[in-house]
Amino acid sequence: MKNRMHQPGIRLTIKQVLTLLCLSLLVTAPRAQQPSTAKPSAADRVALYQALLDLTNPWTVMCIAAHPDDEDGTSLIVMRRKYGAHTVSLFTTFGEGGQNAIGPELYEEMGAIRVRETMAASEIQGSEPHFLGMKDFGFSKSADEAFKVWGHDEALRRMVLQIRELRPDVIITNHSATSNDHGHHQATARLTLEAFDAAADPKRFPEQLKDGVTVWQVQRLFVRARRNAQEPSAPAPTVTIDPNERDPVREKIFAEEALRALQQHATQGPWPKTFAEFAARFRAFTGQSAAPGQLPPIRYVLVREAKGADALTKDSHNFLDGLKLAEEIAVDFQPPTIAAQSLTNFLDDRDKVERALISANKTSVYGRPQTVAASERLASDPRLMALHNRLNKALAITLRISAQLIPSESALVPGETTRFQFRVSNQGTRAAMAKRFWFGERHGKTKAGVLMEPELPPNLPAAKTIEIPLSYETPSEAKVTVPHSQHLYDGSVTGRALEASITIDLGETDFPLVVDSAIDVAPPIEIESIDPSPAVVTPGSASYPLNFTVSTINHLNKPFNGILSAQDQKLSINLPPQTAQKTQFRLRKGLLRKTAELQFTIKGSGSVSSTVPIVFSNARVAPNLRVGYVRGFDYSLPNALTALGVESKELSVDEVKTADLSKYTSIIVDNRVYESDPALISVNQKLLDYANAGGTLIVFYHKSDEWNPDERRQRPQLAPYKLILGNERITDENAPVTFLEPQHPLLNTPNKLGQEDFANWIQERGLYYPKEWDPQFHALLQSNDPGEAPLKGGLLVADYGRGRYIYSSMVWYRELRAGVPGAYRMLANMISYGARK
Ligand SMILES: [Zn+2]
Repeated sequence: MKNRMHQPGIRLTIKQVLTLLCLSLLVTAPRAQQPSTAKPSAADRVALYQALLDLTNPWTVMCIAAHPDDEDGTSLIVMRRKYGAHTVSLFTTFGEGGQNAIGPELYEEMGAIRVRETMAASEIQGSEPHFLGMKDFGFSKSADEAFKVWGHDEALRRMVLQIRELRPDVIITNHSATSNDHGHHQATARLTLEAFDAAADPKRFPEQLKDGVTVWQVQRLFVRARRNAQEPSAPAPTVTIDPNERDPVREKIFAEEALRALQQHATQGPWPKTFAEFAARFRAFTGQSAAPGQLPPIRYVLVREAKGADALTKDSHNFLDGLKLAEEIAVDFQPPTIAAQSLTNFLDDRDKVERALISANKTSVYGRPQTVAASERLASDPRLMALHNRLNKALAITLRISAQLIPSESALVPGETTRFQFRVSNQGTRAAMAKRFWFGERHGKTKAGVLMEPELPPNLPAAKTIEIPLSYETPSEAKVTVPHSQHLYDGSVTGRALEASITIDLGETDFPLVVDSAIDVAPPIEIESIDPSPAVVTPGSASYPLNFTVSTINHLNKPFNGILSAQDQKLSINLPPQTAQKTQFRLRKGLLRKTAELQFTIKGSGSVSSTVPIVFSNARVAPNLRVGYVRGFDYSLPNALTALGVESKELSVDEVKTADLSKYTSIIVDNRVYESDPALISVNQKLLDYANAGGTLIVFYHKSDEWNPDERRQRPQLAPYKLILGNERITDENAPVTFLEPQHPLLNTPNKLGQEDFANWIQERGLYYPKEWDPQFHALLQSNDPGEAPLKGGLLVADYGRGRYIYSSMVWYRELRAGVPGAYRMLANMISYGARK
């Protein structure tokens, strides 16, 4: 075995982090493999087309967006799938401040999910996602509010670094700096304008200019034209993207693929299910018309250009039109052709394509470097290096030679050895040899690992698969990357990056085949979550035992036996290898009032601990309550009812339909349930009858388009009296709250509410405030964001028959979940309200 530089010119730090235990190459029997005559599949053909198209375009297009799903997927898809440009998307935040339409996760937990959703969407778009990692603290109305949280300079610094590293020639964005959009959108638009200049300025953030990072001049910046946008007096050049064009090899309309990408952002749904629905929504959103079943064109305005930039072609359909490469690269940029035609015209003539690619590999500046000087030139120019990688990839796809790196475990454990199989498969017709291979870690541009030269290079004839067993010893100081929610902001949310490569020798030349992979690093035993956290105690529950669900994962390849403890209580836990387990931990009464937090520890081979804050809320409830509720995605409501010490039961829609509801003193419809479970609309009359007969019906916030009467969706007025929602929000969680009817029992019994109950709220006060309501309703609270008109509909209450009806657009679920004591006192008053009679 020899250690050697893998790719001349790329800096490699060879460390002793890697141990290769087994160097003998195992050649598996070819029997199970497909015969070499197997026809390439349709997916193969698509992959080949894309790889060949990618060779024709040396440019990079970046789409900048504030949140995942704000990117212009259609334009990204057109630029990659039609023109072969390298496409990247850059997101300011992970979108963790939004709502979750499919599950209970919020904040960092949802951010980690949205990273995965974005990766799935990017896979369809053919783009590469990157994140600035600024905090998404929820809806904000101004850029200044965003900069107050992010720090303007820090956000700019990160965006400039991404531009300098990713080197886009063109940036596009949906966000305008002059709109009155979401504050994160405005702030992102402003940062983009500033970063355009700053990335090219050696005086800005000079500390970044090392390790291969240089200043970078973006050539063009485009902003999406707005609905009702005023035409500038001297009209700026525009680019129009036609979303209705059909991808010639995938046989799909580009916008259909964009819809499929959008649907990956499932937490932000519901999304249109069909293309026709998507087209209708798009037309309504942009205010533009289009033929039935078609999307209106997407228009961008050129808002900034580099000094001396090549002029944009008039009436263009491509952001890159007119751009010319610098002369020293232009002479070398020669995409391979066959009889002066693009290789994409020869998809079904692989032998010809193979000849052309091998010839390019032997002769092109970005083919196989033939001299040290050639290697150095390649390594010093990222654009040439990118073309080099694309040429190698196209060769591998044409030859149908592929590789996979398969771990034996789902996560690495510091100090432990993990086995991998590096599987290299030749499904084509041409015999090859597998030569030296490399395995190690990547940290940005730096790699650390070992290159090996097998004594006897194995044959890789047609229809053969070889497997190279590898072992990786994770350094004991390696940084843990799970739970993902705790590593959202430290750059390790996607795991530890590993790379394996092998050189494929064709006799007349060779090329490297590279596999990138990312894998989590986990402690031997992980406390994934503890529920509830924080734990809330009220006078009604202080004497009850408290139940926690502790979710653990054994990442070891052997059983884990240990002791789970909190305060003076202990429980033994035993997990089989590589398994997750939920353990019920019952804390005896009387322990909680002594402490502000509770520490859970697991001791075994290794020790981990996790802390649950304990909150005391002086929330009292009327006696003998029995609460039914139709739950949303979140568990904050059942946890809160438990914390209040009241008897409660979750009701399915079926139970609402069939059960005797009169036994409940109140029934709560959680936020957005009429949307998440529309069947509730068909049994809503039963709920109204329940209230009419003496019950208290409480409904939490819904979006206006999920609530307001709509004939097309067969949705009547859901409240007993007129109640129409608007789209107003109060996003300042500290906005002053005025009591409009301070004597109203709902604000006084059993708990007398005061200003302190509205202190220390998180994220916002409420959203989709009612804008019109019947005079039967009493509006009890008033609030507004700074400088805006007061909103009075946050808490509405009416008598109805012998019972009552409450609608609240305030974000009780967020406050209950966060353990805000005042929210528990208000919830206690709401569920006690009906029981007074
Ligand atoms: Zn957004």
